[in-house]
Amino acid sequence: MKLSVYGKGGIGKSTTSCNISVALAKRGKKVLQIGCDPKHDSTFTLTGFLIPTIIDTLQEKDYHYEDVWAEDVIYKGYGGVDCVEAGGPPAGAGCGGYVVGETVKLLKELNAFDEYDVILFDVLGDVVCGGFAAPLNYSDYCMIVTDNGFDALFAANRIAASVREKARTHPLRLAGLIGNRTSKRDLIDKYISAVPMPVLEVLPLIEDIRVSRVKGKTLFEMAETDPSLNYVCEYYLNIADQILALPEGVVPNDAPDRELFSLLSDF
Ligand code: ADP
Ligand code: MG
Repeated sequence: MKLSVYGKGGIGKSTTSCNISVALAKRGKKVLQIGCDPKHDSTFTLTGFLIPTIIDTLQEKDYHYEDVWAEDVIYKGYGGVDCVEAGGPPAGAGCGGYVVGETVKLLKELNAFDEYDVILFDVLGDVVCGGFAAPLNYSDYCMIVTDNGFDALFAANRIAASVREKARTHPLRLAGLIGNRTSKRDLIDKYISAVPMPVLEVLPLIEDIRVSRVKGKTLFEMAETDPSLNYVCEYYLNIADQILALPEGVVPNDAPDRELFSLLSDF
């Protein structure tokens, strides 16, 4: 199964992805997480360091795919999760979609693309061009991370529109929203009343999740020495279990921008 995690910048996609990847591994699945953000820090809490990117490695080898070995680009992370960072095009030039395409091509050459129970793409979601929607071409499901605010829901609506477009030609479904860093969900509920889609989980702002980033550890690793954190892991295990239950998901009908402004505003 292939999953894409989208959402506004800084909303918690990578944090959520890493912890879902470990939760899936805890359920016995062979998991690969692919960071598709030029920020290339997607897998940092899994490995504890910034691993070399596919694009850097390909550049080093003059794009001779046959000279790249799996161990050059696939790194073992916490809980047995395999980690890849696609990397980014040079700032201000190139295309994020091209980078994702090259990454998938290389993983196929290495016979790694179809070897996993779950591949999770961690993708940036301020969707400005078709390139950033590229991982959807390879995905069965999309999940969107959002908070209870206008900007993240606006980005979510854009992503929903991309899913609707891709679903015309691919068997792609939106599995649902993950509310993050919020205990309130009134705007999320308003949004899904206009654009129906499941809410898989709502995670509050938790100081230990913030700290996990600085420590370079997932919550599962932190819970090994601090069992009081097990309750946080339960959120991620719950999301993993819903994914493994193969949810029906939806093909969303995104809301027009003007409707969204009036829906989510007080005036
Ligand atoms: P993105 O990948 O969407 O850009 P990150 O996963 O890098 O976002 O998260 C941005 C910051 O927010 C990180 O420092 C992370 O630790 C923090 N964070 C994410 N989710 C939570 C949460 N539920 N509670 C507290 N901090 C969080
Ligand atoms: Mg990220």
